[in-house]
Amino acid sequence: MQAKVIIHLDNLYKNIQAARKKAGPAVKLCVPLKADAYGHGAIPVSRAALEAGAEYLAVAGVQEAAELRDAGISAPVLLFSQALPEELPYIVSQELIPLVSDGEFIEEAAAAAKNAGKPLRLHLKVDTGMGRLGCRSEEAAALAGKIAACDWLSLDGLATHLAVSDSTRPEDLAYTKEQLRRFREVVSSIKDAGIKPGLVHAANSGGLVFHEDSHLDMIRPGIFLYGYSPDPEFPAEPVMELRSKVVNIKKIKKGESVSYGRTWHAAEDTFVGVLPLGYAAGFPRALSNNHSVRIRGRDYPLVGRVCMEHCLVNLGPNHGSLETDVRRWDEAVIFGPGFINAADMAAKLGTISYEITCNINKHLPREFSS
Ligand SMILES: *Cc1c(COP(=O)(O)O)cnc(C)c1O
Repeated sequence: MQAKVIIHLDNLYKNIQAARKKAGPAVKLCVPLKADAYGHGAIPVSRAALEAGAEYLAVAGVQEAAELRDAGISAPVLLFSQALPEELPYIVSQELIPLVSDGEFIEEAAAAAKNAGKPLRLHLKVDTGMGRLGCRSEEAAALAGKIAACDWLSLDGLATHLAVSDSTRPEDLAYTKEQLRRFREVVSSIKDAGIKPGLVHAANSGGLVFHEDSHLDMIRPGIFLYGYSPDPEFPAEPVMELRSKVVNIKKIKKGESVSYGRTWHAAEDTFVGVLPLGYAAGFPRALSNNHSVRIRGRDYPLVGRVCMEHCLVNLGPNHGSLETDVRRWDEAVIFGPGFINAADMAAKLGTISYEITCNINKHLPREFSS
C-alpha cells in the first residue's frame, strides 16, 4: 500500500485515562465520534473507547449512528446534530438519543415513540452562547416539562456547548464562565420545576482542560482524546500517523525544477524522492515547500508543489553515500506522534488540527496499533 494511516489506539487509551483523571471518577465520559472519529475510524475508536470505560458515544447524524449499530455497538449514542423528523422511526428503533432544542421536534419525537410503542430518551440542548443549536435559556424549563410530561419520552440529559472554552484570553475565559453560569441557572430552573434534568453536560476539550466547573456529570472532549490538547501544560498524545513510501529516487541537477508550477529549483545537484501521496489523500497542497517527512529517523524537506497523488522530498546531494541513507521502498512518516503533528501543520495553514485529521481520506487503509 502506497499510503496508510496508523491509528495509535494506545495513545487514545492514554488520553482517555488522562481525561478521566482530570475530571474525576464520578464524571462520565462521552466520546465524540463525528466525522468518522475526526478521521480516525469510528468503529475501532468506539470499541477501544468502550473498553476503556466510556459510557456514551456521540455522532453528528443518523448515518454515523447506523454504522455503529450495524457493527454491533449497543452503547448509548447521542446525536449531536439536529435529527430530521423522517429519521425518528430509526432513532426510536435503535434507541439513539437525539439532542432536542424545540417543542415542535419534541412533539414529533413523542409521536414517533408512541407509534413504535417504544419509549425514547432525549437530551435537551440549551444555547447559552454558542449561537447554533439549542433552545434559549429561558425556554429550557418549559421544554424539559414538556418532555417529562410525555409518557413516551424521558429526559436523559441536559447539554450546552461552549464557544470559546479552548482560549485563555481573558475575555474568552469570562465568556465561558458566563455560559456556565447561565447553564447552572437553567439546571436550577428545571430542578425547581420538580423535573430531574438527567446527565448535565457541557465540557468539550477546552472545558475539560481549562474549566473545571464545566465537568458536571459528563465530559465530551473530542480533540483531546485524539491527541491535541488546547492546554500545552496538559498535553495529549497524537493518535493519528500518516505514512507513505519512497517509490522513486531520482537525480536532479542544479537549476532544474520539480513538480507543477516549477516552484522549487535545485540549488545544487541533488537527489529527490517521490512519495505517492498528495492532496487527494488529504495532505494539504498549501504545505508545498513547507513541510518535512521523516525517513529512517531523519527529516527531509518537501520540495515543489504537492500534486493530487504525489509529493517530493529533497534527499540531499550526498544521498547514497551512507549506510543509513534512504532506500527505494522505505517508509516515510508524513505526520504523527513524536514528529510533526496535525497541530503543527494546522498552525502553518491558519487552521486547526481537527481539519487536518478529518480530511485524511477515509479510503486510505487504517492500521490500528494497540
Ligand atoms: C464536537 C463536539 C464536541 C467535542 O469538541 P472538541 O472541541 O473536539 O472537544 C463536544 N460537544 C459537541 C456538541 C460537539 O459538537
